[in-house]
Amino acid sequence: MKILIAEDENTTRRRLEKFLEDMDYEVISCKDGLVAWEVIQSENAPNLLILDWMMPGMNGVEICRKVREQAREPYTYILLLTMKNKQEDIVCGMEAGADDYITKPFNQNELRVRLKAGRRIVELNKELLDARNVLRKKALYDELTGLYNRHYMVEILEKEYSRALRYQTDLSCLLIDIDYFKVVNDTFGHIFGDFILREFSACLKREARKHDFVFRYGGEEFMILLPNTGIEGARSVAEKIRSVCESKAYKDGANVTIATVSIGVASVKHHQPSESKELVAFADKALYRSKTEGRNRVSVYVKDSSMQSIEGKVNETRDFGYLKENISSVLEKTKKASIQSLCLMVRNLGASKYEKHNHQVIQYIGLIGERFNLSPSIIESFKNAALLHDNFKILLKKTLKSKSKGLKTRDRLEIESHPDMMAELTELFNFFANEGSLLQHHHENFDGSGYPVGLKGNEIPLGARIFAIADAIVAMLSERPFRKSLPPEKVIEEFADNAGRQFDPKLVFMLFDIIEKQGLLSVPEAVLMKAKEKVQEAMVKCYS
Ligand code: GH3
Ligand code: MG
Ligand code: MG
Ligand code: MG
Repeated sequence: MKILIAEDENTTRRRLEKFLEDMDYEVISCKDGLVAWEVIQSENAPNLLILDWMMPGMNGVEICRKVREQAREPYTYILLLTMKNKQEDIVCGMEAGADDYITKPFNQNELRVRLKAGRRIVELNKELLDARNVLRKKALYDELTGLYNRHYMVEILEKEYSRALRYQTDLSCLLIDIDYFKVVNDTFGHIFGDFILREFSACLKREARKHDFVFRYGGEEFMILLPNTGIEGARSVAEKIRSVCESKAYKDGANVTIATVSIGVASVKHHQPSESKELVAFADKALYRSKTEGRNRVSVYVKDSSMQSIEGKVNETRDFGYLKENISSVLEKTKKASIQSLCLMVRNLGASKYEKHNHQVIQYIGLIGERFNLSPSIIESFKNAALLHDNFKILLKKTLKSKSKGLKTRDRLEIESHPDMMAELTELFNFFANEGSLLQHHHENFDGSGYPVGLKGNEIPLGARIFAIADAIVAMLSERPFRKSLPPEKVIEEFADNAGRQFDPKLVFMLFDIIEKQGLLSVPEAVLMKAKEKVQEAMVKCYS
């Protein structure tokens, strides 16, 4: 251990030097307070000090005071060397921050034991600091991946953002999310999922440059902060990462898979966020766009679509694409849930041994599909089909068992795995097949003048014709921001006039009948009679 001696009197100093060197201390000695202070300020300064009270330059008590003004780590232990042994002097020295004192001429044994105590304090303090560093490391790093964690991200983001503003430099943020990671977990299990996360993190670290910060932002989401990097630089780093990920295979034992990523990019200079958090929010919006536009891609943040429409740059096809993608992803959950309830049905029948078979089939579908470069959503639908197949097969087998009892094995198997029956069962899951045609044709007119196809009369699906009438009567009767509601008489007139043109006259006639019998609208009987006659004429014209 290093020790500093500051003593202007030669004899004592030499005695001290000799004594301490014999005890294996690494001794630095000086005879002047200012020189001592310089040594204390230097890098790797000793943490054990023996200071004479009276010295030229700066006295020992002053040095004590100055040392204590600094928050020095590890702790600096100070032993004052003094001729004074009056009690008030000792109090004064200890109050200045000395830990202990010894009077001159010193007794070697006494100095030895007093130093031993000091040395122990310094050592204990060092141990404490080491333990604190270990804790701090845990607080900064993510345990699974070894990357910086989200907690530390907040700190670094704030620092780098302020630095960029202060020095007018740029700062870019990449948010990276692994595509369909849930499927990977579901297919290969969490252990393999964790393996991918670790490999993936190592890959990100390799791709990042020396001054970039790589964080695990959440489960399978990562962030890279790129100081001194503008939007174009950030985009190309992102693109590099995307393409490296795309061509990387994760292999562990029998499991092999690939994992693409979607990335969102934002930069301080280009996007002018109002605070550091907004930079991340921008990158997050861009990431969302990468997801909705099909995944495995890089998007730079652009102002939201309401802003774009002000600038007259609406892209209807693309916006419709987003909407479709969003609704699909909501329905994807329904799909999963319905398959899951089938699995449950099967499990309740005590047929769980099929699960392993099914799992393996799904793995092969995944491997082959990826090899074909099929999109993950297509592969997903193939896997769903395999799941449906296995579940249906068991359900059919159990249900048809009694009927197939007398049959030969081959015929029995045929019944149990009948493809037509499976297709019919699958159709049960097409919840909205009928509704689709209604929605497509609800703006067709009975006389063929409507859109989108211009269907005529009974060609228009009945549901669409009924919907058109129901929708119209409610619209006419209700108050709208741009139009007052029609009085009931006018409503009746409107329907009578349009029977055979916009509306199916037979249905209008029924509507009038219902209104009359159930007294739904307060219209004079005569009005209704006259309207009915008119509709009858239209019916004759249309159906003759
Ligand atoms: P998307 O393409 O929309 O991002 O699909 P996704 O399945 O990746 O999206 P989502 O965010 O819904 O799912 C993330 C999954 O990541 C859910 C969770 O099971 C998995 N995950 C999160 N943290 C961990 C982890 O530490 N280990 C493992 N193995 N999986 C994790
Ligand atoms: Mg002196
Ligand atoms: Mg995610
Ligand atoms: Mg994901």
